[in-house]
Amino acid sequence: MSAPGSTSPIMSSAASYWLMLQRITVWAASIDVAFLLIYGALGANALALLNLASVAMYVAAWWLLRIRRNKPAVVLIWLEVVGHAAVGSLLLGWEADFHLFLLLFMPMIVLGSPQRRALAMTTLLLASYAALYAACKTWAPLSPLAPAQLEVARWFNIAVVFGLLYAVASVYRQRVRHAEQALWQLARIDALTRLANRTHFLERAAAEISRARRAGEPLTLMLADVDHFKRVNDEHGHEAGDRVLAQVARAMTAALREHDVLARWGGEEFMALLPDTDAALGRTVAERVRQAVATHPVVVDGRPITVTLSFGLASLVDGDLQAAMRAADRALYASKHTGRNRVTHADDTPQTLAA
Ligand code: GH3
Ligand code: MG
Ligand code: MG
Repeated sequence: MSAPGSTSPIMSSAASYWLMLQRITVWAASIDVAFLLIYGALGANALALLNLASVAMYVAAWWLLRIRRNKPAVVLIWLEVVGHAAVGSLLLGWEADFHLFLLLFMPMIVLGSPQRRALAMTTLLLASYAALYAACKTWAPLSPLAPAQLEVARWFNIAVVFGLLYAVASVYRQRVRHAEQALWQLARIDALTRLANRTHFLERAAAEISRARRAGEPLTLMLADVDHFKRVNDEHGHEAGDRVLAQVARAMTAALREHDVLARWGGEEFMALLPDTDAALGRTVAERVRQAVATHPVVVDGRPITVTLSFGLASLVDGDLQAAMRAADRALYASKHTGRNRVTHADDTPQTLAA
């Protein structure tokens, strides 16, 4: 079980971990109520009392977690499980299989602690297990059950341990999946604009290019750069600049088509790959994006800020993305040098115009 402030990647979302533990205390208390009823029916009053104490401990742990006293709550849960396994075994004997509850600590120890501490805790758990076994073999059960009743108690314990292990493993699987998704997003999605970043653009572009080559379809690359963006920062502040970039990204996404691949390429530069698009259609699409951004000022703190984009377009020849990027950059440079807020296709610029 993880201590508060654990740095395990699986425990990265501390709040959801404590919420999960709080839910576990509810399940555990419910299971103990079921135990209480079973032992009451079997006439094993000592065990019924033990379960009453367990329910009280889980209710206390639930309340401690609720008021964020996480450490004492964890200690209480450990004490309950160890106490329940030990007292149950001493009352009914080793054969009642209460000791199996100690195994529930294994996934929590291994997944929630650094390796060396996990090894030490596993050794301690094994030693406790052996000590409990020795005690059960030394002393006769303090409150023995009839053989048939012992079988009921034993199989109830086995079934509950299976169920709880399944639940614990499912929770960890879910947490690993969430962590994987979060890492995937961090590695591929730009935090400011929520667009694909370079890595993700290149992955998607590679898939799109091979698909287009198989289908014999044209592809157009579109590079866009915000005009005089430095002025936006200088006049309205860097934070306003950030909000402008996020808005521009949204406007571009809305103006592009569903299957176009748009990414934040760098600071105030955006790159898009337009599938099934020749030069003429590319100009039309880019012109639509240009107008959408230029005619909708971004409102920041009640003040409208008009931003425009310059575009450089290039057709992909033989699926060569690098060559198309160089050509689109050259076309963008031409847009900047002929007045900005315009679309230029690389086919319309002389090859010698260097970026
Ligand atoms: P041009 O029309 O020639 O493109 O002029 P420009 O001012 O847009 O170009 P320049 O490259 O001189 O400046 C780009 C500015 O973009 C400078 C940099 O501080 C700003 N910038 C880059 N990334 C971010 C960002 O994430 N947030 C904000 N607010 N500004 C950024
Ligand atoms: Mg710029
Ligand atoms: Mg730039």
